[in-house]
Amino acid sequence: LSDRLGGVFDRLTKQGALTEDDVTAAMREVRTALLEADVSLPVARDFVKRVTAKATGSAVTKSITPGQQVVKIVHDELIRVLQGEDAPDSLRIDNPPAPILMVGLQGSGKTTTTAKLAKRLKDREKKRVLMASLDTNRPAAMEQLAILGTQIGVDTLPIVPGESAVQIARRARTQASLGGYDVVMLDTAGRLHIDQVLMDEVQAVRDIAQPRETLLVVDGLTGQDAVNVATEFQDKVGISGVVLTRMDGDGRGGAALSMRAVTGKPIRFVGLGEKMDAIEPFEANRIAGRILGMGDIVSLVEKAQQTLEVEQAERMMKRFQKGLFNMNDLRSQLEQMQKMGGMQSIMGMMPGMAKMAKQAEAAGMDDSAVRRQIALINSMTKRERANPDLLQASRKKRIAAGAGLDVAELNKLLKMQRQMADTMKKLGGMKGGLLRQAMKA
Ligand code: GDP
Ligand code: MG
Repeated sequence: LSDRLGGVFDRLTKQGALTEDDVTAAMREVRTALLEADVSLPVARDFVKRVTAKATGSAVTKSITPGQQVVKIVHDELIRVLQGEDAPDSLRIDNPPAPILMVGLQGSGKTTTTAKLAKRLKDREKKRVLMASLDTNRPAAMEQLAILGTQIGVDTLPIVPGESAVQIARRARTQASLGGYDVVMLDTAGRLHIDQVLMDEVQAVRDIAQPRETLLVVDGLTGQDAVNVATEFQDKVGISGVVLTRMDGDGRGGAALSMRAVTGKPIRFVGLGEKMDAIEPFEANRIAGRILGMGDIVSLVEKAQQTLEVEQAERMMKRFQKGLFNMNDLRSQLEQMQKMGGMQSIMGMMPGMAKMAKQAEAAGMDDSAVRRQIALINSMTKRERANPDLLQASRKKRIAAGAGLDVAELNKLLKMQRQMADTMKKLGGMKGGLLRQAMKA
């Protein structure tokens, strides 16, 4: 991610200092990126509000590279929210046998994650793990866990047909104690949607099992729904953390931010595939990159800049309508013309400008002339640019000399500015957006 940000930083540095408008425009794009990444609206709103407050502080305006600062603030805040301050770096499995309760909707990846975590505990922490399936809804679910157990070399509680989830939980505890296991993992049944039956069952199991960890398994590809699921489980059962599965897919990770913000519970692990090793501890850094990468932060900043140009054009239109047209305006126009490829094409687009375009042609208004005119304007002081009427002989000499040009050329420029100011005044009365369109083109 930092590679990608690097390019943005360079570009923003060259663009000069970011104003409060820049921050606002950038934040609009950040908000869009968050929503596109499936972050829920209230969370996105709150996030943007907080970041805006931080970004418009003095640190940004005084910074040498304000763009860098803004992007970094967004990134840091994202990590801060995702990481939380209280996230433990390992599962609580003291007091053996430590029960770990796995909950979540059907198909979210509970059974797979149960086995993955069991394997991690066995391989990395040399723990003796017992797994038990409490999924009495589907007989195949118990088989599934047993098969995975054989595959990864972790014991599973023998299947006894006809038992309820609570009975299995009780038996699992007893068995884990008797068998000297360090951890007993309880894989519960899920449902397609949250309902009372499911919640009652999970609560009953929780009361029997007294889990050290209750991990909510959520499909990382589900966006907004994940937040409701997490809220519901947090309220009704109480969870100690979240496992986000299917992050090997193109999920945007926005669910992680929403769930973190709404439940206050840390994301503990991320599932990255169907294989038994495809699980990793949650890294805020990665998900932050993913969330920001969504709108692609580069295009995000570009979009912000485009928005700014349009806004700038609109501000200028307002000035023109009041008949205001000083050297700053002229310079913007000249620069815009340079960008859009020549004077004639632009003037041709504007009503009443055709005549001026001919004059300009006659006066040798080519691209190099435009460059010279910009040089002249740059050679003026701020006050002179804002008020060209100040330009008397001595000032003219100084300005022309500063630009390395003759006073005659400066006079032509001044005449042009006056003509344009007149034209703008006339055009200003017209409601048509032609000039604006020309500027946007
Ligand atoms: P359960 O109903 O919650 O127990 O879900 P399962 O564990 O049976 O998983 C449902 C499907 O999702 C299975 O085909 C798993 O292989 C798959 N799955 C689980 N976790 C991941 C993951 O992180 N990535 C991918 N690509 N597939 C996963
Ligand atoms: Mg299952």
